[in-house]
Amino acid sequence: MEKNIQIAIDGPAGAGKSTVAKKVAERLGISYLDTGAMYRAIAYKVLASGILVTDEPQVVDVAKDVNIEFDYSKKTVYCDGEDVTRKIRSPEVSRAVAIVATYQGVREHLVRLQRQQAEKRSLVMDGRDIGTYVLPEAKVKIYLTASVEERAKRRYLEDITNKKNVSLQQVRLDIQNRDRIDLEREHSPLKPAADAIIIDTTDLTIDQVVDKIVKIVEEF
Ligand code: C5P
Repeated sequence: MEKNIQIAIDGPAGAGKSTVAKKVAERLGISYLDTGAMYRAIAYKVLASGILVTDEPQVVDVAKDVNIEFDYSKKTVYCDGEDVTRKIRSPEVSRAVAIVATYQGVREHLVRLQRQQAEKRSLVMDGRDIGTYVLPEAKVKIYLTASVEERAKRRYLEDITNKKNVSLQQVRLDIQNRDRIDLEREHSPLKPAADAIIIDTTDLTIDQVVDKIVKIVEEF
């Protein structure tokens, strides 16, 4: 039997990873796993429980306890049975998540769950460390990037469409801050895998990026 196909898509915040990964998975007829949503679900649970994000042992306990489920047909994420799809995208969670993601205990636990998913099925997985650490044997590794101005603009437009009260400047600062923490952390920092194909999406539409990736996969 042919081994499951694994496609890794990594990159900084706002590069278009989740939108692109979802469409690539649809085009290839395989599953999609949003690993950022898993880290976000833990950050949400930590904040909702009144635990300080800086309290590493308690945060790791939350990560081990929490039950995260995805219903892709309904585009819904559940955290201990609660629909948290919108809540995990709040500015508070976006600010807390990068801190939570620096803890080794949190990462070990989530990476184990992510690898289990990849053993069961063919999938596109997006995140920060998929090509470098979670799925080092992935068939295709893509690193999506774009200028910080463009990434902030995209996230800002997404936020105001979702009726969030934010300014472009604040979104840019939050993105830069999150990128800095993701790039500088000790465990699995954000970086392209040595064999990743880097795509700068600054001047590309979503469909152009999706077409490029599907072509790469088909030619492999
Ligand atoms: O992809 P998204 O922006 O939703 O990810 C939220 C945060 O989760 C990232 O800024 C990063 O701190 C963390 N993350 C991670 N490793 C992953 C996916 C996300 O550290 N594989």
